[in-house]
Amino acid sequence: MTKIRIPAIFVGHGSPMSAEIDNYYGKQWREFGKKLAKPKAILVISAHWNIEETAISDLENPKQVYDFYGFPQWLYELKYPAVGCPELAQQIKKLLAPLVEVKTNNEWGIDHGAWIPLASLFPKADVPVLQLSLDATKPANFHYELGKALRPLREQGVMIVGSGDIVHNLSELEFEENAKPLAWAENFEKKVLQAIDNRNHQALINYIQLDSQASFAVPAAEHYLPLLYVLALQEDDDQLEYFAHGIAHGSISMTSFVLR
Ligand code: ZN
Repeated sequence: MTKIRIPAIFVGHGSPMSAEIDNYYGKQWREFGKKLAKPKAILVISAHWNIEETAISDLENPKQVYDFYGFPQWLYELKYPAVGCPELAQQIKKLLAPLVEVKTNNEWGIDHGAWIPLASLFPKADVPVLQLSLDATKPANFHYELGKALRPLREQGVMIVGSGDIVHNLSELEFEENAKPLAWAENFEKKVLQAIDNRNHQALINYIQLDSQASFAVPAAEHYLPLLYVLALQEDDDQLEYFAHGIAHGSISMTSFVLR
């Protein structure tokens, strides 16, 4: 019997406003979500759980985290009541044990890097969700290796979602979502997409050397690193397909893709 391999997804989550019903990017996510079969569970590596350890939550009912400030009230009232998956948390600990001791950490929950895109991809919130933290003390290569070690989960019904942004610079941000992309943002993203298409993962691990203005595009690693987890899951016969494209607010890449 051939095993079914579940798609792996990278989503450029951008602003929480993507949850708005007529938001350009949210619409693309919803259209794409309609084509996805329901997995057994979803493991999210979100830019917004960036701590000093590799950790996972093992609660039956993780809390929804509203980790954004100054947005309209309706966003703080959106509910995404997905349950957790304690058994999968245990399994992931074992799977990653040769590389790192994964801690149990129930202080966090399902943050907006996870639930904002999931509310469009799986609006019924009927798939268990858990998050694996990013250990901010570790180099890019460590994150790529962890991603590789997660590969067996795809054949066990688990959808792995990396949620960040290829380009993410809040200090250069324009107010308008459809502002013209800044030149360095566009240049960096173009080089990243070329390397993705050429499967040159080593160049993407060494992203600081990819472009002279890489430090503008990636002023801090946390939004970029989820990309490395997803690329590390790419099997030889996986096809890569983009389901959202674009740079919002001049300096936030919304580019999203699936491997399947
Ligand atoms: Zn973010």
